[in-house]
Amino acid sequence: MSLVVVGSIALDTLETPLGRATDVLGGAASYFAIAASFFAPVRMVGIVGEDFPRHELDWFGSRGIDLAGVEVRPGRSLRWTGRYHEDMNMRDTLAFEANVFEAFAPELPEAYRDAPFVFLANIAPALQARVLEQMRAPRLVGADTMNLWIETTRDELHGLLRRVPLLMLNDEEARLLSGERNMVRAARRILALGPESVMIKRGEYGVLYFSGETVFAVPAYPLEEVFDPTGAGDSFAGGVMGYLARSGDLSPAGLRRAIVYGSVLASFAVEAFGLDRLRRLGRDEIERRYRQFVSLTAFEVP
Ligand code: AMP
Repeated sequence: MSLVVVGSIALDTLETPLGRATDVLGGAASYFAIAASFFAPVRMVGIVGEDFPRHELDWFGSRGIDLAGVEVRPGRSLRWTGRYHEDMNMRDTLAFEANVFEAFAPELPEAYRDAPFVFLANIAPALQARVLEQMRAPRLVGADTMNLWIETTRDELHGLLRRVPLLMLNDEEARLLSGERNMVRAARRILALGPESVMIKRGEYGVLYFSGETVFAVPAYPLEEVFDPTGAGDSFAGGVMGYLARSGDLSPAGLRRAIVYGSVLASFAVEAFGLDRLRRLGRDEIERRYRQFVSLTAFEVP
């Protein structure tokens, strides 16, 4: 089943303690779409400038990603520069040039509007709502957000959350949105805002899922070296939504499997700069690591 994603498509300059990369493919929608493309046909909505490398658009196309909803505008593409600290859970945004992204007003091609799955990656809540309004009857709507929108457009975000069944955000954003430091209390507050379920991404500490009285926790895959955490959350979301779109199974067990697939995709994404690891990733590696997750967390009741 097809999956629509809307969000940023960018050229990133990244500095981590292990190196630097300039103007590499990035943006939340890019990470999401590539991760999801291992499972299901993806339809992308976004905007890029004329300077956007043709070969990257071709790569999306070769992964079965529909680009009919990606507008190419005169001007420069969105550029973001981020620097990670020695502790790679911390990063600073050194530069954010919106460029053509400033004028982004998502318009969905007719063929996208019946898609059963949709993910609203991190963009202004008003734009996320605009996309949602154009969808006819999605089976599952997922969304992400960030500090900027929680701080500057809280009312719009609250309005959106009443219409989003699945929210994914990181621990810092969960604290800011809920006003609670403790993740269990934060999740309870967030669920009271509207979503049926929330997935809280905690970087190297894994992910927590809350829905009604259910709590599910998955660790991050233990890696000896993390090269670049950029896009880990978006790759996680792509793995989750992609797997759900492929299986169509929204049962509690299906959701748990999806969260593990999301964790698998995120663990690969951080193994190299930008999207480089996902470029050479194979389905067999995904399945192998999924099984490693099973043995990582399996134990017996005495
Ligand atoms: P993450 O590591 O999940 O926070 O995602 C990082 C990606 O988000 C990078 O590839 C950036 O290009 C993109 N990004 C950074 N800031 C913004 C923003 N304000 N709006 C949309 N996308 C952004």
